Amino acid sequence: MLLALDEGTTSTRAVVLDDAGEFLATSTHEITQHYPQPGWVEHDAAEIWQRTQAAITAALNAAGAGPGDISAIGITNQRETVVVWDPATGQPLAPAIVWQDRRTALRCEQLTAAGHEPLVRLRTGLTLDPYFSATKIEWMLANVEGLSQRAHSGRAVFGTIDSWLIFCLTGEHATDPSNASRTLLYDIIDGSWSPTLCDLFGVPIQALPEVRPSCGVMGTVRAAGLEVLHGVAVAGVAGDQQAALFGQACLRSGEAKQTYGTGAFLVVNAGGLPPPSPAGLLASIAWQVGSKVTYALEASMFVAGAAIQWLRDELQIIESAADSEALAASLSDNGGVYFVPALTGLGSPYFDPYARGTIVGLTRGCGRAHFARATLEAIAYQTVDAVRAVEGARGEDLAELRADGGAVHNGFLMQFQADVLGIPVVVGEVTETTVFGAAALAAVATGLWTLDQVGRSWQESRSYEPAMTSDQREALLADWERAVQRSRGWARK
Ligand code: ADP
Repeated sequence: MLLALDEGTTSTRAVVLDDAGEFLATSTHEITQHYPQPGWVEHDAAEIWQRTQAAITAALNAAGAGPGDISAIGITNQRETVVVWDPATGQPLAPAIVWQDRRTALRCEQLTAAGHEPLVRLRTGLTLDPYFSATKIEWMLANVEGLSQRAHSGRAVFGTIDSWLIFCLTGEHATDPSNASRTLLYDIIDGSWSPTLCDLFGVPIQALPEVRPSCGVMGTVRAAGLEVLHGVAVAGVAGDQQAALFGQACLRSGEAKQTYGTGAFLVVNAGGLPPPSPAGLLASIAWQVGSKVTYALEASMFVAGAAIQWLRDELQIIESAADSEALAASLSDNGGVYFVPALTGLGSPYFDPYARGTIVGLTRGCGRAHFARATLEAIAYQTVDAVRAVEGARGEDLAELRADGGAVHNGFLMQFQADVLGIPVVVGEVTETTVFGAAALAAVATGLWTLDQVGRSWQESRSYEPAMTSDQREALLADWERAVQRSRGWARK
């Protein structure tokens, strides 16, 4: 059996799988969200570890797994979030700063104004944004009393959530390249922490974890309280989006997945060389197997399923997310109504924090159905923008898009997506691709599965074939583009 841990933003989950990859048991425990000030989001790292232990114990019990039954552990996690702890006691030294936290926005603007963006983009594939870890660590060092001294003398260490869990489980201070490549401190071309970037953000390089392959042994469990797992290797680690790419078996260059969740994340396997990462897209490392690094190109859409939640909770024009499907399908077309769901600004490829939600084309005959349809169409149009940006950057078109996340249950959305993309959209049998990806990395690392087997074991559940003429597609996309222009720059600075 395999154990996979998925430490997300709102919950931590443990899943036990059999050797063939079938899910045997799952246990999910919530994580408390702390919002000490507007724009700040924190987690308690000690709580994360406690709840993860509880999830592990419950999942092992439910699966009837005893000592010797688990052959390897995989970890996937919310990315960018920073934990700081004392390596001697294992005690966190400050609240963890979560990826959503915006407290370093001004600092990022200053660094951009000072001209650091081109170097950062070249070496890390990322952009100067509070989202990533480096300015969060810089903030901790400047604001947590005594931390800077401790970090310089080996009495405080930093890590992303994977690194924290690896430490708690095994006592090793390690991470993998997919997580390291989201910190703004890791040089994705050289494949190592960058002394130049550590200097820029004032981060003592010795306080960062050792970077080890995503697929390989990070350490073996020796945590008190988890005796049943003692000696089991943590052997697969990847950030959530990269793990989903692996779980969708997008193992060859040019294969891509889109996760339709609260937001949506498009990730394409970019092969063995660092891809160009033009503004509006992010390059990172997908995974490292042995010494072989695979890169990824990523586009993020901030609002996808969240717009459906907005229809349900704020507008109250649907009772459940699933109702949006029949409502949208009750119309033969969108009636010229477009909704740009820029409720928190626009993500890839625009990255416009000043864009706001905009609905255009309303006429007297419009009603709930138009809102539902425009919202689902918008999720698909945003995906087309992201796919075209990725295709433009790579100079190669996608052959198909593998889809996962909660909104893949919406048949209208999936069919419309295939229509406006002009390529098949394929939903796999495994819907829990993130946690499956972590388990698969661990299974490959311990020789239980081969990489080829991961590729071959992927099974299609449903394929949506494009059925729209290209004239019709381009006319819709042209109007969507006009709507996007109207949403941009709306909020005042
Ligand atoms: P996350 O992991 O981001 O919490 P999930 O993958 O669980 O998200 O997906 C939940 C999202 O999917 C919600 O935002 C919800 O509105 C949306 N969703 C779920 N079912 C449907 C559906 N049938 N049609 C459209 N959206 C849906």
